[in-house]
Amino acid sequence: MPFRFANVAGRAALVADERLFDLETLSDGSVPADPMAALAQPAELARLNETLATAAPSGALADAKLGPPVPSPRNSYGIGLNYRDHAAEANLEVPDDPLVFTKFPSCIVGPTADVELRSDRVDYEGELVVVIGPGGKDIPHERAWQHVLGLTVGQDISDRRAQMMSKPPHFALGKSFDTFGPIGPLLVSPDALGNPADLLLQTYVNDDRRQNAQTSSLIFDIPTLVSFLSSITTLQTGDIIFTGTPEGVGFKSRQYLVDGDVITTTIEGIGSLRNVCRRVSDWRQK
Ligand code: ZN
Repeated sequence: MPFRFANVAGRAALVADERLFDLETLSDGSVPADPMAALAQPAELARLNETLATAAPSGALADAKLGPPVPSPRNSYGIGLNYRDHAAEANLEVPDDPLVFTKFPSCIVGPTADVELRSDRVDYEGELVVVIGPGGKDIPHERAWQHVLGLTVGQDISDRRAQMMSKPPHFALGKSFDTFGPIGPLLVSPDALGNPADLLLQTYVNDDRRQNAQTSSLIFDIPTLVSFLSSITTLQTGDIIFTGTPEGVGFKSRQYLVDGDVITTTIEGIGSLRNVCRRVSDWRQK
C-alpha cells in the first residue's frame, strides 16, 4: 500500500498530487505529529493514504519548509565502495562484504539545508537512502523488502581531509560533521516506485552534472544490506542506510565544494535535495 511521507516544519504529513495532509489532523490524533512516532505506524500511514482523495489538504508541497523525513534515526549507517565505477575511481578493491561505517545521526538535516564547509576538501556523494520499517534481527534476504519502510535521497557529504588524515581512514568522523547528512525531500514507500531497485540517481554541482547512475548498479543491493546488517545488529524502525555513491565524486578531479556551490541530488520518483554550501570555519587551526 503506497504512500509518500514528509516532515513539514517538524510535523508528519502525507503527500499526494503535490498537496500536503497533516497526519495528526487527518487521523484525528491517532497518528502523532512527531515524524519519528508517525513512522512507527506504517499500516496507519498506508490506510490513511487511501482516504486522501476526499480529505482536505493542509497545504501545498511547493510552499512547505521540509525537514528531514527521518529527523532523528537511532542509527545511521553508511556503505562504502558499493558501485564498481566508484571503487575504481578511488583506486580501491571492491570489498567481499559490505563496508559499513557510521554517519552520526546528529549530521542529518533537511532537503534544503545549507551544508557547512569546514575545510577546502569537502566532497559530495549522492546516494539512495533506505529507511527501515519493522525492525528485526537476522532478517532473511528474501524477506528484506518487507522491512523497508521507504526510500529517500541522501547526500553523504565527506570532508576528505578529516577522512584521510589517518590510516585506516576516519570514515565516521569525516562524514559526520554537522549538516553532512541532507536527506529528503520525501520518504516514498517502495511500492510507490515502479522498480525500487532500479532508480536513476543524479548529482549536479551548480549546472554541472557530476553523477549519473542507476541504483541497480549497487554491488550489495538493498536486501543484501538489510540482511547483512541485521545479522550483526538489531535493526529498528527509523534506522537509515546510506547505500553508497556511484562515480563522479569531487576528489578524483579535485573539484571540491566551495562557498556558494549548489548541490542538487535527484532520484527518480522521489525528488531532489537542493543544498547550498557555506564556508563557515576551519575545523582544525594549523
Ligand atoms: Zn557515501
